[in-house]
Amino acid sequence: MSKTSITVAHGDGIGPEIMGATLHILESAGAQLDIETIEIGEKVYLSGNSAGISQDSLDSLLRTKIFLKAPITTPQGGGFKSLNVTTRKMLGLYANVRPCVAYHPFVQTKHQGMDVVIVRENEEDLYAGIEYQLSADVHQSLKIITRRGSERIVRYAFEYAKANGRKKVTCFTKDNIMKISDGLFHKVFDEIGAQYPEIEKEHWIVDIGAAKLADTPGAFDVIVMPNLYGDILSDVAAQIAGSVGLAGSSNIGMKYAMFEAIHGSAPRRAGQNLANPSGLLLGGVMMLAHIGQAEVAQRVHNAWLKTLEDGTHTYDIFKEGTSKNKVGTKEFAQAVVANLGKMPEQLKSVQYKTLPPLPEPPMPTYNKIDQVGVDIFVNWSKGDANELGSQIEKLGTDKLKLVFISNRGTKVYPGGLADTVKADQWRCRFEGKLGEIDQRDLLALYTSFVNGGFSIIKSEGLFFYDGQRGYSLGQGQ
Ligand code: NAD
Repeated sequence: MSKTSITVAHGDGIGPEIMGATLHILESAGAQLDIETIEIGEKVYLSGNSAGISQDSLDSLLRTKIFLKAPITTPQGGGFKSLNVTTRKMLGLYANVRPCVAYHPFVQTKHQGMDVVIVRENEEDLYAGIEYQLSADVHQSLKIITRRGSERIVRYAFEYAKANGRKKVTCFTKDNIMKISDGLFHKVFDEIGAQYPEIEKEHWIVDIGAAKLADTPGAFDVIVMPNLYGDILSDVAAQIAGSVGLAGSSNIGMKYAMFEAIHGSAPRRAGQNLANPSGLLLGGVMMLAHIGQAEVAQRVHNAWLKTLEDGTHTYDIFKEGTSKNKVGTKEFAQAVVANLGKMPEQLKSVQYKTLPPLPEPPMPTYNKIDQVGVDIFVNWSKGDANELGSQIEKLGTDKLKLVFISNRGTKVYPGGLADTVKADQWRCRFEGKLGEIDQRDLLALYTSFVNGGFSIIKSEGLFFYDGQRGYSLGQGQ
């Protein structure tokens, strides 16, 4: 087997110790790796580089495309950019994969049979970081969900399930409320899921799904979610499995991938040969499966399971009665190496397959996109909704007439309730005849607003895509 080039960062705190142990095990198992070592994290931040990574290090990542990363310490105080967010966004790492597994009876857990993989969309949703203060009162974050982003992550979840012998993929969204953004994610899940008849599919509303996951994780196998729900629930899932210190994760892109432990740099444990290298080791195992060394990945993972069964445990999972030998980082690694080739007897052994390269989804196209109107947002705190409504009504043009005014999404004019609590920003919806509105009609309306003494804070177009409405109705409309 030819060697695969990878970039390795030893990180901060316990990072160098657990990376040393991980590389020792992977190489002893026969992993064919050509390693480029880079420095990231605390020292780089404190040298004045606010990204925590130098250009030379980035060049190595761009060259090898595969990154095995130990945890880093982000220095206290402002002005330091998150290295994880930077690499994730720059390298287009759209999928975060986190297996959350209980190792009962060898490691304490609340949920003995838990074996759930969370597949989290990693680039979109509220994490696009597009935020505005729109008035004294109103602050806004934009939730961005794209069709192609949803297709990438949902296909990845199904391909992952197929390669890893998993039976079911569940999707969590809140599409009963966010019908357009989460609705798209759910729709894509149904469309792509239909191409995998051998895999069971289900969708849960995220609130009740989260409750079920925390209570009965055995009901789930692979769960795919948009970014925010996935961020929260992957932590919940890892915590209730009882294995935060044992969990690895991968961040997968079309071209690049990054593998790591889910825990941090545990600075208080650093330099004492105490830390558990398992999280990073399992990250490394996922890396081997990704780069076409699935057999080595399997060998390492099964030897590691056998080591847990032997009761050879680091301090963090050591428990009188079930554990047998309390060991340090190095000794744990040696025990795993000694078990290479052995299979676990009680814990479920693993099999890995390398996923095929996934297709880049095409840009969606429509035959007909027609504008029907525009929402104009204004700030105003001089009176009630009826007073504003009577002024705004007059600003309508020949082609665009006021349909309603809403406040925080609820219709307040015409015919709103006086008791609806209102902020100082108002959305004024103007509509005309479908297909007969062009940019000049919008300009005429904007001019009318300015002449009427109103500043336009922002506007959103109202479109139909091949006859389908591309905007939500106002609550109470
Ligand atoms: P942490 O995960 O480092 O530690 C939480 C607790 O778990 C501590 O008690 C620690 O001793 C223990 N622990 C963690 N990993 C362990 C291991 N492998 N073996 C044994 N015990 C382990 O979280 P924290 O204390 O909140 O953060 C410490 C630093 O890590 C911070 O600077 C934070 O920014 C950074 N961090 C980095 C990453 C990353 O690089 N991916 C992720 C999370 C936190």
